[in-house]
Amino acid sequence: MSMDDRVYDAYREAGALARKVLRRGADLVKEGVSLLEMVETTEGMVIGEGAQLAFPLNVSLNEAAAHDTAMPGDERTFARGDLIKVDLGVHVDGYIADTAMTVDLGNHGPLVEASSAALDAAIAAVRPGVIAADLGAIIQSKIEEHGYKPVSNLTGHGLDRYDLHAKPMIPNIAMSGGAVLLEGMVFAIEPFATTGLGRVVEAPRVEIYKQVAARPTRLPSAKRILETARPRRGLPFSRRWVPGDRVDLGLSTLVRDGILHPFPVLHDIQGSFVSQAEHTLIVTADGCEVTTR
Ligand code: MN
Ligand code: MN
Repeated sequence: MSMDDRVYDAYREAGALARKVLRRGADLVKEGVSLLEMVETTEGMVIGEGAQLAFPLNVSLNEAAAHDTAMPGDERTFARGDLIKVDLGVHVDGYIADTAMTVDLGNHGPLVEASSAALDAAIAAVRPGVIAADLGAIIQSKIEEHGYKPVSNLTGHGLDRYDLHAKPMIPNIAMSGGAVLLEGMVFAIEPFATTGLGRVVEAPRVEIYKQVAARPTRLPSAKRILETARPRRGLPFSRRWVPGDRVDLGLSTLVRDGILHPFPVLHDIQGSFVSQAEHTLIVTADGCEVTTR
């Protein structure tokens, strides 16, 4: 077995597990269920299978598109009418599967269908020689066909070992230029459809961080945060994963000092609804292999 075979097998293993756990996690999303319990149960399934999380389970409600997860002691419960994006990242030896689906506790069927149909259409177009921007055009037209807007400032992305945001970037709208797809590339496609403005902005709340520099710190809570961050090897972690108190003081200090990068909750306008669908794939000689389907 060549090195490459081992790499692609790790991608496949991560993909099969992510697919299974995402479905089980999504099945837990029901009216009245605690968001914290759902998140911890789903994250626990990944660890229980002997794999690792590539990022904290993202559970983003309604107008939130991404980067929300359970807060420490989160008292939120899923409610009738909610539209819930569940986005799971699993890695095996650093090789990542990134996949998401939208659970509808209201009457958002056509909106859910829009992002899902856009994902299917983009996947069907993947083969060597295609321009990444062409996938953006397909995604945009599919979502607009359904009567919604794509979220223009969220994109799909290449995956590399312990790297969630490698090249190529896969836009969700028509663009000029961009990467040419090559056999062997691994990336995630993730269309977002919205009833809002089609652009997300950062909320004040931050639940997810990643370490971007290594510098000593004397603050006890910051030390605990860096102990949580270190085994992540640059992959994101949740505020909820850090033990002890004064965690927020440590986080803001480490962000100020350039040691942590924050990922604020991203949302479209209040009262809007955003849906998401995402798969990870490997480009093959004549198409692609979807690892998470
Ligand atoms: Mn994702
Ligand atoms: Mn992704």
